[in-house]
Amino acid sequence: MGMDTFILLIGYGAELIVLNIIGTAIYLNSKQRHYKLQKTKQFIQKNIHNSKIEKTIYAKLSSEEKEKILIISNKLKKQRWQLNNFFKILLQNTDEKNLRHFSNNIQTLKIYRKPTNILTMLVQNKNTAAEYIQSKNCIIMYINSDNALYHELLHMSSSSEKRASSGFHRILHSRNINIYPGLDITYNEIGRGINEGYTELLNNRLFKNRSTSYIRLQKIAHLIELFFQDKKEMENYYYNDNIEGIIYELNKYMSLEEIIELLIDIDEIYYQNPINLAKYFEVKRRLLKIYQKYKSEEETSKFKKEYKENHFIKILKRQV
Ligand SMILES: [Zn+2]
Repeated sequence: MGMDTFILLIGYGAELIVLNIIGTAIYLNSKQRHYKLQKTKQFIQKNIHNSKIEKTIYAKLSSEEKEKILIISNKLKKQRWQLNNFFKILLQNTDEKNLRHFSNNIQTLKIYRKPTNILTMLVQNKNTAAEYIQSKNCIIMYINSDNALYHELLHMSSSSEKRASSGFHRILHSRNINIYPGLDITYNEIGRGINEGYTELLNNRLFKNRSTSYIRLQKIAHLIELFFQDKKEMENYYYNDNIEGIIYELNKYMSLEEIIELLIDIDEIYYQNPINLAKYFEVKRRLLKIYQKYKSEEETSKFKKEYKENHFIKILKRQV
């Protein structure tokens, strides 16, 4: 499908209501969520040794792919300015091999606007300004915010066309997708927490925002980034929806079981925030302990600076 199928800013309609029902995830209380996450953790820990965790190197863009990006860049100039701006900034800040999902998804992306009020948000147990629905490749905007739009566009740019992984978030089993046939629906995802934190961290960096949404997950994502020799490598994994990249990198410092435990605990921080901050502080301490064990004194002192709560907020502000 070509760029002519771009449909932007469709108003209200039947489709929107359906999309909203899909988008409103079934609410699970935190106890059920905890149980579900623990089951997922045990399942992956049991099975991960059978999967090969290797370093991934991404091919440079072919001339056809380059041509495609050029055509897209011309067409985007005629779209709403935020889309063009997003593309330009992305291109300036990341390697073009990270634009594959962007260029595939942008061609069929739909953006809907669904203004909402606080009461509706409370009733639906939602506190999001916008959301990207990967299975439909569409963005729903609940409030008018460029910041929120860019966050969702980052999700789009890191989402596989197979619709089972987005950035560092991997769906193992859902009603529509069964990656591992026979797998119980209980074990359905990993990496949502790190994915949201890293997405918003990138959003702040790229667009010079100082958003505090997912502030704790941003911090965790940033601390994990410090384990990487080259932080661009984490970015490459993100845009190529490769959670295995993080697992590969952290495996230099932790066992596979410990990494899965960490990722699931970060998911729990996502689902329980702000009810349960104890998990957040515990995960941070765990990361520091491991970091200290393997990294130099100089690196550790830098890590400790980033580790402090107020310091991180200062960094966010300095970036503005
Ligand atoms: Zn998000």
